[in-house]
Amino acid sequence: MPPTENSGGNRYDVVVIGGGPAGYVAAIRAAQNGLRVACIDAWQGRDGTPAFGGTCLNAGCIPSKALLESSELYHRATTEFVSHGIRVGRPEIDLVTMQARKTAIVRQFSGGIQALFKANGVTGLFGRGHLLPGNKVRYTPHGGGPQLLEAEHVIIATGSTPVELAFAPFDGERILDSWGALDLTEVPARLGVIGGGVIGLELGSVWGRLGAQVTILEAMERFLFMADGQIARDAQRQFRKQGLDIRLGARVSGVERQASALTVSYEDGQGQHLLEVDRLIVAVGRRPETAGLLDPLAGVKLTDRGLIEVDSECRTSAPNVWAVGDVVRGPMLAHKGSEEGVMVADLIAGHHGHMNYEVIPSVIYTAPEIAWVGQTEEQLKAAGAVYKVGTFNFAASGRARALEQSAGLVKVLADTATDRILGVHIVGPMAGELIGEAVLAMEFQASTEDLQRTIHAHPTLTEALHEAALACDRRAIHAINH
Ligand code: NAD
Repeated sequence: MPPTENSGGNRYDVVVIGGGPAGYVAAIRAAQNGLRVACIDAWQGRDGTPAFGGTCLNAGCIPSKALLESSELYHRATTEFVSHGIRVGRPEIDLVTMQARKTAIVRQFSGGIQALFKANGVTGLFGRGHLLPGNKVRYTPHGGGPQLLEAEHVIIATGSTPVELAFAPFDGERILDSWGALDLTEVPARLGVIGGGVIGLELGSVWGRLGAQVTILEAMERFLFMADGQIARDAQRQFRKQGLDIRLGARVSGVERQASALTVSYEDGQGQHLLEVDRLIVAVGRRPETAGLLDPLAGVKLTDRGLIEVDSECRTSAPNVWAVGDVVRGPMLAHKGSEEGVMVADLIAGHHGHMNYEVIPSVIYTAPEIAWVGQTEEQLKAAGAVYKVGTFNFAASGRARALEQSAGLVKVLADTATDRILGVHIVGPMAGELIGEAVLAMEFQASTEDLQRTIHAHPTLTEALHEAALACDRRAIHAINH
């Protein structure tokens, strides 16, 4: 599909640079607010095809979820069907079809953004944007000459790129970033992953379930240090049971390429080690993407970590230039970027705009999923908070049992004096869906009593959240209260 075009020259109320979940959402909301909007995006697929949607849609959230679902179904077919009384013989993997399904989903959604742009009157432009002084943007189409766009407001939403390790540069073949790791055409026998964060766990799970022997090397001593400790320990136990080899406190110092293998050297508390693998995924974080974006005279300041400096409402140091998503402070999460985009588009239009940074959900799409919102028990302890805890194990949930997914738990943390919910943490089936109720509760500043008095359908997984809220006051019905 060609880029959508609008008549009326090169003057816009808003030019958005970056068409990922932060940028394209900002563009649509700004157009809904009656503004004349263009959105420029530089993304090109491996075959050079341009696309809106950014990393999330083209090389992150969406394709990884497609593969996570496929690999999970394969895993369940091989391990769980028998206990349901279903015999299917030995399931086989057809990776070509699995990858084609993933690609079709991505294409459909990228086309969907263009359709939404058209319906809302947003001018979608494929190519690079460069911010000049005075809110001018130099737009260079792929393979074309530069054009000058003028804007009342500019929103920068250029996202982030994977961090590369100097001793293990990405080669697109054996040493892979998260995008490359989604496009493997065969299941590696031995897969190494540097970084036991969100990407390492999700992609490690995909290829582990499809048959790879996966070893994850994580520098920190504590597994999933950003998650609640109890939840992280439970998840770690479950992943290890599934065969994921997670080595903590592992500081990687080099990677040597042999003809048929890669040798990774790392050090931990026990000393120096070598690990031989066939493919290596490096997932040690992402850095903000500002290369070639800013004219020095445009007046946009960066922080010492290379992020675009913004205030609490995403204003940069240059007048009428805003920045949202991964390129600014805060968690690098699509939904955080989208909400910032909405806030900025509303502020530009003179409406009320607001972003509640205290209540942003996190989800790790492993099996079981891990999800949380608000503060962890460790954070509350460190802050000297007086809090109460209620937990409920999925083992006592009828629905979880029926799903054959009864490992994990829900944990609710609340202020002892006011009963206000301070954090909710889940490891278990559909945790990423279940956390929505907790997010809404916290957004409305609910107490555990509010959750306790809310009727939850039976039998559903949501009852586990209900019971954990009851357990905060030692009133869980389907568990022994300690
Ligand atoms: P991350 O920050 O989640 O994890 C990186 C991990 O690598 C950390 O645990 C860190 O301790 C470890 N590490 C760093 N250097 C290391 C080294 N030299 N050796 C061994 N370990 C090392 O980063 P990520 O997994 O690369 O993800 C990047 C970003 O994308 C994150 O902000 C993440 O939240 C986001 N993301 C989110 C989702 C989701 O929401 N489900 C999915 C994918 C990515």
